[in-house]
Amino acid sequence: MTALTRGKSRSKRVNPADDLPFEVYRQAVDQADIAISITDQRANILYANEAFTAITGYTPDEIVGCNESVLSNHTTPAKLYQEMWRHLSEQRPWSGRVLNRRKDGQLYLADLTISPVVGADGTTSHFLGIHRDVTELNRLERVVRNQKMLIESTLNAAPVGLALLDTSGRVMLDNEACKRLASDVNAKEPAHFILDMLLPDWRGQLAEDPARCRFANREVRIDRRGGSARWLSVTASLIDTQSDCADTYFTSARQPGLLLVINDVTELHVEQERARADALKLALIDEERNAAIREGLSAALFRLDEPLNMMTSALHVLRRREPATAEILNEAVNASREHLDQLRQVIPPPPPESQSSVNLNEILRDVLEISVPRMLAAGVTVDWKPMATLPSIQARPLQLRMLFKALVDNAIEAMNTKGWKTRELTVTSHIADERVVVCVLDTGPGLDETARHRAFEPFFSAKSGRHLGTGLSRAQQIVSDHGGLIDLNPRPEGGCAAIVELRIDGDPI
Ligand code: FAD
Repeated sequence: MTALTRGKSRSKRVNPADDLPFEVYRQAVDQADIAISITDQRANILYANEAFTAITGYTPDEIVGCNESVLSNHTTPAKLYQEMWRHLSEQRPWSGRVLNRRKDGQLYLADLTISPVVGADGTTSHFLGIHRDVTELNRLERVVRNQKMLIESTLNAAPVGLALLDTSGRVMLDNEACKRLASDVNAKEPAHFILDMLLPDWRGQLAEDPARCRFANREVRIDRRGGSARWLSVTASLIDTQSDCADTYFTSARQPGLLLVINDVTELHVEQERARADALKLALIDEERNAAIREGLSAALFRLDEPLNMMTSALHVLRRREPATAEILNEAVNASREHLDQLRQVIPPPPPESQSSVNLNEILRDVLEISVPRMLAAGVTVDWKPMATLPSIQARPLQLRMLFKALVDNAIEAMNTKGWKTRELTVTSHIADERVVVCVLDTGPGLDETARHRAFEPFFSAKSGRHLGTGLSRAQQIVSDHGGLIDLNPRPEGGCAAIVELRIDGDPI
C-alpha cells in the first residue's frame, strides 16, 4: 500500500513498523552504538547490548541477573538516586550524570537516561537504561571551564575596563572594571553608553561595516551627580570570535567582535584641570579688574555726558545774550569733550577671544570652583546638578566664564543679606529643544517686577550704595554675542532663577 492510498483510507491506522520482524528490533538494539540495558522493576538487569559490554567490561553472561548498582562507584550523591527513583516511580523518564566503575575498576562518568516501560495494565514492568561514557567530554568541559575561569580572573584583575560586543551589539564578555562603570554612567550597559557618546551611529556601523567602529584613545567625560567628573580614554578594536549559532555549524563560524578597552584617566585630567583652573582664575581676576575699570570709566563718562549736554543747551541761549561769555563756555565744553574722548580711548578693550568647542559643564564647574571662597564666606551651600553628558558648543570660553561668574556672584550677593537664613545655590544644566539650558537658582529675596524688567539695563542696580550695576548688562551682552537668551524669573518657592539658553548648533535663538 502506498502512502497516498493509506492516507485516503482513514478508518484503519497502519504503522509501517508493524511489518518489521522482531529480529530487526533485537539486532538494532544489540548493535546500537550506545550502552542499552533492560531491567525489571528492581533494576535487576535482564538484558545488556554489545555497547554496554564495550563500556562496562561486563559480558551479558556476567551482568544479567545483577543489579544496575554494580556499576555504581558509590560516590554519586544519594540525593541523585532518590531523585532518579522518584521520577521512575511516577513513570517519568530520568536523565543525569553518574560516576560508574568498570569491571576492571576503572572509573568513568556516564550520561544516563532511564525510561520506565509501562505495560498495557498501566504498571511499570521494566526499565530501559541508556548510557554513554562522557569522561573525555567532561574533561574537555572542565578544561574549557577552567580556561574561562582563568580568562575571567585575569580580565577582572585588569585595571582597565574591557567589553567585547558581537556584531548585533550584544555584550558577550565584560570584566568587573567595566561593570563597575554602570552606576557612574547610570546605564545598565556601560559599553553601550560609551559607544553612544563616542560613535552615535555605532549600531548600524557595527552591523554593516564593523571596521568603521574602530578608534583609538578617544576620551569621554562622565559627570557624576553630586560627584566629580570621571574621564575615560577608550580604544575600540576588532578581534576574531567564533559564533555559537547552530546555522554557522557547517559554515565559517568566524565573526568580528568589537573589543572596547576603557582606561580611567581621571587622575591625569584632575592634575591638568587643576593647573588649568589656576591659570583661569588668574585670567578671570585680570579680566574682572579690566572689566571693572572699563565699567567704572564708562559709568563716569556716561554721567559726565549729562552735565556737558546741559551746558551745550545753555550755550545756545547764552550765545544770543552774551556772546563773549558763550565763547568761553564753548571752549570749556569743547575741551571737556576732548578730554572725555581721550578718556574713552584709554578704556581697556575686552580681550580678543576666538570661538572654540566648549563644554558648559566644564565652564560651570570652573566658575563654582573659583567661587568657593565667596560661598564659604557667605555661608552658601551649593547643589551642582549637571546633565551627565552635555554636547559641546562653539563659544568663547572666557566670556562664558565671566557670564556665569556674574550670575553666581549675583546669586551669592542676593543671599548674603544680614539675617537671611536659607542660602542655597543650585546650578543645573540640561538639554531642551536643541539648546543647552543652564539655571542658576538662589534662595534669596528675589527681584520685584520693576527690578526684573530693568535688571539688564546698564548701571541699573537693585542694591543701594556703591554698586555699579553693570554685571547683568554685561552678562546679557555676552549671551546675545553667542546668539542665546537670558532671563531672570522669580521662583515660586522664593528666590531668583537666572536661565541661560544657548543653541547646540550655534545658530541664534
Ligand atoms: P540502592 O540501594 O540501589 O538505592 C539507593 C536509593 O535509591 C535508595 O535509598 C532508594 O531511595 C532508592 N531506590 C533504590 N531502588 C529503588 C526502587 N526500586 N524503587 C524506588 N526507589 C529505589 N546506578 C548507577 O550508579 N549507575 C548506572 O549506570 C545505573 N543504571 C541504571 C539503569 C537502570 C535501567 C536503572 C533502573 C537503574 C540504574 N541505576 C544506576 C540505579 C541503581 O539501580 C541504583 O539505584 C544506584 O546505583 C544506587 O545504588 P546503591 O546500591 O547505592 O543504592
